[in-house]
Amino acid sequence: MDLVDERLRLMHVHAHPDDESSKGAASTAKYVAEGVDVHVATCTGGERGSILNPGFEHPGIVENPELITEIRREEMDRAREILGVTQDWLGFVDSGWPDGDPKPPLPEGCFALVPIEEAAAPLVRLIRSFRPHVMTTYDENGGYPHPDHIKCHEISVYAFEAAADPERYPELGEPWQVKKLYYHFGFSRARTEAIDAAMKKHGLESPYAERLARSFDPEREKRVTTRVECADYFDIRDAALIAHATQIDPNGFWFAVPREIEKEAWPTEDYELVKSFVDSPLPEDDLFAGLR
Ligand SMILES: [Zn+2]
Repeated sequence: MDLVDERLRLMHVHAHPDDESSKGAASTAKYVAEGVDVHVATCTGGERGSILNPGFEHPGIVENPELITEIRREEMDRAREILGVTQDWLGFVDSGWPDGDPKPPLPEGCFALVPIEEAAAPLVRLIRSFRPHVMTTYDENGGYPHPDHIKCHEISVYAFEAAADPERYPELGEPWQVKKLYYHFGFSRARTEAIDAAMKKHGLESPYAERLARSFDPEREKRVTTRVECADYFDIRDAALIAHATQIDPNGFWFAVPREIEKEAWPTEDYELVKSFVDSPLPEDDLFAGLR
């Protein structure tokens, strides 16, 4: 493969604005610093997100809750700049978190209800124009089971295949084979335990007691193939997260562990390699292993 004159390209597919800053953002910043061209595809506008930061204030938001869409676009503008990425909106409408037992039906026209062929089309087009060497998305459970995260997984896997197939979506550009597909692996038990232990070692209260009391699937842990060292970029990740001011409380859970402790206990972001067209022995420490 001749990549000598070509910049490496990485595409992250995310469900909502803020997901690009809470999942894999430090590895994004690292790759950007190395000269990789990183593009984020954001499936929905986050229209049904609630304001999760008690300190968030914005004139008019109480009277006009629909302002959230515009505000989240501005937040994404800032995060994009901080991370140094380019980004496209795929143009779907947030499905919202179905709260209640039984869960209420999903709102008409939302992303999760769009048929897969239609939902994957803008991503196929984007893959064929950006031509990423590596793509990331969520696992089959969405990382966490928000309907938009599960749909994001579905369209990513579907578009990964379809973009390479000249028979499918011929009107959406020249076929492109992405060489590697990864799933994000955020809160593994191993990571949670390591940070929990480091907090206690430093005489601090761990925020993970409740999380560790829950059951973890031991099989899921074994799926990590790739750990990208990126502790030097945690600061950039944090700044990008804070840019999503409606969603992120700077005094909340995301920031409950001092960065020095996180760096010491778990200096990587972790991924599962699920499809590959290159030779790269596992485990890996680089999403571009086999491509450089
Ligand atoms: Zn999300």
